[in-house]
Amino acid sequence: MNTEISLLRPATINPATSPELTAALRTTVEAKSQAALALLQSIVEEFGRQHEVTFANSFGAEDMVLTDLILRNKLPIEIFSLDTGRLPTETYDLMAQTEKTYSTRLRVLFPRLDAVENYVQTHGINAFYESVELRKACCHMRKVEPLQRALDGKKAWITGMRAEQSATRAELPVRQHDESNGLEKFNPLSGWTEKEVWAYIRMHNVPYNKLHDQFYPSIGCAPCTRAVAMGEDVRAGRWWWEDPTSKECGLHVKK
Ligand code: SF4
Repeated sequence: MNTEISLLRPATINPATSPELTAALRTTVEAKSQAALALLQSIVEEFGRQHEVTFANSFGAEDMVLTDLILRNKLPIEIFSLDTGRLPTETYDLMAQTEKTYSTRLRVLFPRLDAVENYVQTHGINAFYESVELRKACCHMRKVEPLQRALDGKKAWITGMRAEQSATRAELPVRQHDESNGLEKFNPLSGWTEKEVWAYIRMHNVPYNKLHDQFYPSIGCAPCTRAVAMGEDVRAGRWWWEDPTSKECGLHVKK
């Protein structure tokens, strides 16, 4: 396993210095924002207003765009997050900042205590580095099982995934049926570029994870995320020791 972090400047967007907010970019982002908002409103109309629609916020840049759209427009969409117990400090800082900025309290789900204790006792505290199977078992215990609890009783869920993020997401539709969890799944930002996401964040002064300023375009658990290098795709820093075509945590796999 190569754990060395490249010192090359990555090709991805650094929100502290870019993108330049040209008039054309502002116009594009405004149009895409209106389209995303219209989609969110239509999801509420179609799937009810009694907490039957939920949004999975993992505090990535895309998720903060959707959080801003939902909370600023007071849409009746529940927002939940999964605390795996292995998140970076910067993510907890953003959780707190989000609650303060929007005067809200987020729903946070944790893994089952007995499952974590059994896994660590049997395999070791960092066993996810040892094989894909053990990595997926850790993701299942810390993410997939809590997600299933979060989606229980819901009719639709919303994610911040984008098609250009990785090889595993290239064909990502805006709407799909999630067979694994038995409900509809929406990806309102599927067609957005990374540049547009960061333009929205700057235009609306949306809080974001400070690790993005250190070339972490995609942020998950601390031991499984690193900065990316020049030319790498935005999810190259996630489970970097694995084959790129299998790098999903189990939250978004097709059946
Ligand atoms: S990302 Fe890493 S630490 Fe987090 S749940 Fe998956 S394997 Fe475990």
